[in-house]
Amino acid sequence: MSLREGCKIERIEAIPLRCKLAEPFGYSQGWYEKRETTLVKIVTNDGIQGYGECFGPIAGNREIVEDFFAPILKGKNPLDVEELWEFMYNKGRAAFQSFIPMTAISGIDIALWDIKGKILGMPIYRLLGNGHRDEIKAYATGHYFKKTNSIEELFSHIITEALENVKAGFDMLKLKIGLGVLGFDLEEDIKLIQRVREAVGGKVTLMVDANYAYDPHTAILIGKELEKAKVFWFEEPIDPTDLEGYKEVKAALNIPIAAGECLATRYGFRDFLSQRAIDIAQPDLCAAGGITECRKIADMASTYNIKFIPHVWGSPIAIVASLQLIASLPRASLLEFDRSDNPIREEMGKSLIVREGSYVKVPQNPGLGINIDENIIRKYRQ
Ligand code: MG
Repeated sequence: MSLREGCKIERIEAIPLRCKLAEPFGYSQGWYEKRETTLVKIVTNDGIQGYGECFGPIAGNREIVEDFFAPILKGKNPLDVEELWEFMYNKGRAAFQSFIPMTAISGIDIALWDIKGKILGMPIYRLLGNGHRDEIKAYATGHYFKKTNSIEELFSHIITEALENVKAGFDMLKLKIGLGVLGFDLEEDIKLIQRVREAVGGKVTLMVDANYAYDPHTAILIGKELEKAKVFWFEEPIDPTDLEGYKEVKAALNIPIAAGECLATRYGFRDFLSQRAIDIAQPDLCAAGGITECRKIADMASTYNIKFIPHVWGSPIAIVASLQLIASLPRASLLEFDRSDNPIREEMGKSLIVREGSYVKVPQNPGLGINIDENIIRKYRQ
């Protein structure tokens, strides 16, 4: 019996994980008091298991994975991953009309690639095209806001974290701005970047993420200050869907503009790429359509000579899925390495994520290349 005929999806399970944080942290759009995610586990008729991850809250993902997609995918061949992507996308649209549940599709897609790699005996990046990649350059994300008594205390908190990241081997750091959420204004946003720049010195690369805190006019004002501070890229300056606004901001600034973590699918990226509204495309594998779709977005970006640096935020499954995709690409990219508080990521990742300085190892085992410790899953499962 051939692989094609013999292999079938037997079971699809949503695994919701949640933990409360000891201390909340914030960014321009609000505060995180917990971390949560939904893993997807797919088991085939011959017992092969694959894991994926859905971006975002448990609510919605759990139900759509288990009640909507699991029954219609049962019995299908997991090797047909791209065909199954189209099947899910079309079924999703027909069922929900006003939106397509891309986070759920993403989690299932990643799990299918994990299975496919295990069946074919190769890490995913090799299935997608490349020969051998050992490691990927990473940058540190974090430096979130804390609830402090003064702006100076907040600055010193963020500077301490930045210096710790440099000490840990990172030479590229991403900072958050948009201190309006704490009642401050643009001056403090600019001062924060200047203070961190002074503290870490000129050799460390800084990137800045506004998480759409501004309108285009304000983004241009602040972008000019970021240029002076030699910031490497300005991320999500404005509303993620405002194509014309991005073109306006990009035209007015010399600093590269990054965006895309709030966009999904090749259709969502199409106009941003073809109209050159951004310099760096940042889809999240767990939200934009999984490995299948993000590889397509990466290829589209390369057509327009736009960099592809995916957004990464989640458990070690999101991290290794991103590593596998990045390792498959012919052009250099970077791994976003989240350093903010997340006990689930830390506990699961201890034996799975291997970082040496600013480089993270690409798992070489088949599929995603990792074995999930089910005891940790049990600990955080909701
Ligand atoms: Mg971001």
